[in-house]
Amino acid sequence: MARVPAVIALAVSIGVALFPSPALAPASSALEPSAVGPPAVAPASSPVQQVASANDYFQFPLPTWTRHCDVFGSEWRLCDGTPLRTCASGVWRHTGYDVRTGIQPVRAAANGVIAGYMVDSYFKGGVLIRHQTSFGIVITQYWHVWLRKGFHVGTHVTRGQVFADVASMGSRTHFHFAVFRGELQSIAWRGALPRVACAGSPAFPYRFVDPTAFVKAHLAPIAATVRPAHVCRFDGEI
Ligand SMILES: [Zn+2]
Repeated sequence: MARVPAVIALAVSIGVALFPSPALAPASSALEPSAVGPPAVAPASSPVQQVASANDYFQFPLPTWTRHCDVFGSEWRLCDGTPLRTCASGVWRHTGYDVRTGIQPVRAAANGVIAGYMVDSYFKGGVLIRHQTSFGIVITQYWHVWLRKGFHVGTHVTRGQVFADVASMGSRTHFHFAVFRGELQSIAWRGALPRVACAGSPAFPYRFVDPTAFVKAHLAPIAATVRPAHVCRFDGEI
């Protein structure tokens, strides 16, 4: 029997089969949905208007970044090795990085606007934040979280601002983070994609990039935040 958890996209009423492949969708699945429908979308015509350079900096959403089980590009499996979904080309590939964590605050990776929020009975909340950067639109994806009170689709957030909390999934509690390069679309919700396009899904990685490498490449320069008010100079020093 196919497991078809109810999906509630706040602001947009949709119903989507998260796991069309019943044999590969155990009820004990610890990972996020792989196929979901269109999210509630903030108008693309209302980008954040802030200092461009500030909008280009990212940070990690959690203070620690220890691997849980799946990483970017790894086969999408439960921690015990059970594959979550396959096509003829093999087990699907994980689009994000899973972080070992308990319940704690989740921070926005960069300045942006909450562009989507959906709640699944098993996977808990999923959030997409849309970032307008000088190098294009970036969508950051957060799964297994609850939005905090006062935050909703359309809310502007700043880098480092707490907007959600990790959701409890019992012994399978973890945090999933992904980075999607490009304008918001339904694929941006995906927790995994097939090795070769199948079942209506594009091949991994599509527009997803390694989230850990991406954040590291866009961290705010330390000099910009801890630079002393003035620098003492000594004879002979350049
Ligand atoms: Zn994940």
